[in-house]
Amino acid sequence: MARRQLIAGNWKMFKTVSEAVSFVTELRDAVASIKDCDFAVAPPYLAIHAVAQKLAGSNIGVSAQEMFYEDQGAFTGCISGPMIKEAGCTYTLIAHSERRQYFGETNESSNKRLQATLRAGLVPILCVGETLEQREAGKTNEIVKKQLEGALAGFAVADLAKLIIAYEPVWAIGTGKVATPIQAQEAHAFIRSLLRTKDTAWADTVRILYGGSVKPDNAAELLGQPDIDGGLVGGASLKVDSFVGIAKGRKS
Ligand code: PEP
Repeated sequence: MARRQLIAGNWKMFKTVSEAVSFVTELRDAVASIKDCDFAVAPPYLAIHAVAQKLAGSNIGVSAQEMFYEDQGAFTGCISGPMIKEAGCTYTLIAHSERRQYFGETNESSNKRLQATLRAGLVPILCVGETLEQREAGKTNEIVKKQLEGALAGFAVADLAKLIIAYEPVWAIGTGKVATPIQAQEAHAFIRSLLRTKDTAWADTVRILYGGSVKPDNAAELLGQPDIDGGLVGGASLKVDSFVGIAKGRKS
């Protein structure tokens, strides 16, 4: 079945508010004519509101990079779903590998975040992926299965209608090492086969993004794979030219 592609830029801890606003002012015009694809940017929290205002009415949605699983309370330093929703987010990333690596995100806490995302009416982009060590030990499928089963435990398919998954092999994130289209397609097909065990029709609608050193010159091959429905892009989403190059490159 045809799934609409999504190109989402994860800015990580880059761009001040003013840099973010001038960037999206340019990006908005640059992708305005591309109608067959969805776009999103995930700025740092401080820039979300200003970026969302600038992008109102455009074809670029706004995502948070992370959110806490409680809606409010004494959780110093945390930001909740209702807060990012009101600030203008449509999406949020959940369990990006940098959150797993540096901030203690687990499969269990990503499950709680997923519940909070749905409570807030946000679209979750759930990140999964193996480290190099795990891949070399032949454990890619085992790890991805554990991450997915942990995050999705207890949810009914009806709750997950909007779920987006990002397969991001950790060894390809920010390293310039990219999964081959065959490796990426295999992992995506495996993820979809896991989703099919819950519900076949739903599994065919879930968008699975690839992330890991996507660039304009590899976008066409990667994003052209049958089970790859767009990209979650870090470094190359920080420049308008390369973001647009990926959006256009995927078609060539
Ligand atoms: C990411 O941050 O999710 C990512 C995939 O980064 P990069 O494109 O830089 O590898």
